[in-house]
Amino acid sequence: MVDFSIEPEFQAKLAWIKEFVETKIRPLEFIYDYDFDAPYDAGNTALRKVVKRLQQEVKGQGLWAAHLPSHLGGQGFGAVKLTYINESFGTSSFGPVVFGCQGPDSGNAEILAMFGTDEQKKQYLEPLLDNDVFSAYCMTEPQGGSDPTNLRTTAVRDGDTWVINGEKWFASNANHAAFMIVMCVTDPAAPPHNRATMFIVPTDAPGFEVVRNVGLWLDRPGSGGHPWLRFTDVRVPDSARLGEVGKGFVVAQSRLGGGRLHHAQRTIGLVKNLLDMMAERALSRESYGEVIAGKQSVQHDLANTFIEYQQFRLLVLYTAWMFDQQREHGAEGRKMISAVKAAMAKIAEEVTIRAVHLHGSIGVSNVMHFGQLTALAMHEGLADGVTELHLSLVARQLLKDYQPSGDDFPTDVLWKRKAWAAKQLQPILDEVGVTFEESRGTVDLPAVMRPVGSDH
Ligand SMILES: Cc1cc2nc3c(=O)[nH]c(=O)nc-3n(C[C@H](O)[C@H](O)[C@H](O)COP(=O)(O)OP(=O)(O)OC[C@H]3O[C@@H](n4cnc5c(N)ncnc54)[C@H](O)[C@@H]3O)c2cc1C
Repeated sequence: MVDFSIEPEFQAKLAWIKEFVETKIRPLEFIYDYDFDAPYDAGNTALRKVVKRLQQEVKGQGLWAAHLPSHLGGQGFGAVKLTYINESFGTSSFGPVVFGCQGPDSGNAEILAMFGTDEQKKQYLEPLLDNDVFSAYCMTEPQGGSDPTNLRTTAVRDGDTWVINGEKWFASNANHAAFMIVMCVTDPAAPPHNRATMFIVPTDAPGFEVVRNVGLWLDRPGSGGHPWLRFTDVRVPDSARLGEVGKGFVVAQSRLGGGRLHHAQRTIGLVKNLLDMMAERALSRESYGEVIAGKQSVQHDLANTFIEYQQFRLLVLYTAWMFDQQREHGAEGRKMISAVKAAMAKIAEEVTIRAVHLHGSIGVSNVMHFGQLTALAMHEGLADGVTELHLSLVARQLLKDYQPSGDDFPTDVLWKRKAWAAKQLQPILDEVGVTFEESRGTVDLPAVMRPVGSDH
């Protein structure tokens, strides 16, 4: 039975989260620079003290690292409860860090736990879970990210070490990270999905450099959390390999499902926040003698946003429930995650544009933060797989449940349906002793509408 209910003890935790986010986390956005990377800047010791202090409160409430199972230091809440937690963060970029569930660290922690050796877990996973360090995940390259069989960064074996050469791009937080998980081609001649291997590379490794910091719209030039990276003869020991040689795609796939769901859960909060802003604006702004909330087009925008928000929230909750049923790795789970991912990009983009428009000139001004929200919304159709790829995956999975009609006409063409219906109903008519003609009623239908007896 599908169940999204919230028991009273967890409801009390959600009430605490709501209050905490509103009174202690949201204020951070307005005091500190909104730069996307600020919460991840381990070098900003003053801000780190503030964040650590708030993290203590979260830990005290038993809400730290809510995305992880309990044996990894998390709370073992499962995906449905995590949806209620993540949606509470709304537009907050500090929320996930304060609660210890920020990407890409959350996904990196998962693959370190799944594929890491004991030594790797001690060296990298433990400090990551304690939020003493940050990490990056490096898959995308400057020549294109949608097709990961197109990677050019190589790792070549040399005795007990591997030598890495190449470039990565849009590696979130790599400029603040202690280590990176880097996907490299280790066997260019292998079938495309067996070519790559994952390596853990410390950011102080000789030969590694940040070519340029790259930010989103409105991040100051030279700042931003998604840098362009270069690896020139970077040497790592074989003990830095994460997972088996040639299994880089398996490792990559393992982290993406959860990460996409977490993004979608936070997007529910983003959309709710935009809806709140739209509603306030509609009630506050007057035009031609009435508040704009009285205009039918504004009402429709609000109503459509509310309906889409509810639909999307239920889609995410249902997918989260599927995850909790341990079906996340099956084909149905993959279809649902891709559906959620595509829906998330659509609703984020459409509602953000709607909200900006409803605000008029102040919506596109630099005295509101719609610029950052628009960049955030637009990135949802790109990161973790572009929308087109997810839509195609949904369609491919969907089509597995269907068959071609077998000839030039659809199954639902009327003459096929009539023949089928006659066969289905014949036993019942025989039983009650009537013919189709007798039971047809008195209206004289055109031939094509007649249930039986037509030559078509
Ligand atoms: C904010 C942000 C954070 C990111 N963080 C990370 C990170 O931490 N680590 C990391 O490795 N990467 C990260 N990325 C990169 C992200 O994964 C890539 O942007 C994504 O894979 C798309 O690659 P691309 O940007 O090169 O787009 P392209 O591959 O150049 O695609 C551009 C467009 O081409 C079209 N297109 C491409 N392929 C197809 C197709 N098969 N079918 C139909 N249309 C297609 C689509 O319209 C698509 O939007 C991040 C990106 C953003 C924006």
